[in-house]
Amino acid sequence: MKTPIFQPRTDRETKLIENTKEEFRAILTERLNQLLNEANKTVSDMTGEVENYPDPTDRATLESDRNFELRIRDRERKLISKIREALERIEDGTFGICEECGEEISEARLKARPVTTLCIDCKKKQENDERLRGL
Ligand SMILES: [Zn+2]
Repeated sequence: MKTPIFQPRTDRETKLIENTKEEFRAILTERLNQLLNEANKTVSDMTGEVENYPDPTDRATLESDRNFELRIRDRERKLISKIREALERIEDGTFGICEECGEEISEARLKARPVTTLCIDCKKKQENDERLRGL
């Protein structure tokens, strides 16, 4: 038996849903700010440093550090856009609804992974499909 958390029936439930939405909005906003701060820090660390390493070996190390940071930033960038999308879904009322089957995603799953757009069943199905296709 699923507990519907995003489709209100009574005033009390409406209030609960508002609180839950606020809770997720707070979690997502905080995570977004963290990521944006880290991203800014990385960018300022990366500017104007190369001239301080005249030795080619040091420079190579610095370059690979930089590639590493760029990869991290790529992952952060994806997460940032996922968080922004989740915040938009909170606004338009589709947050917590599986985009595959239209069922509500369990609150426990949302707590563990607020940016998810799939319920656990659809997620498992997707992972199985990917395994079958060798991804
Ligand atoms: Zn689903």
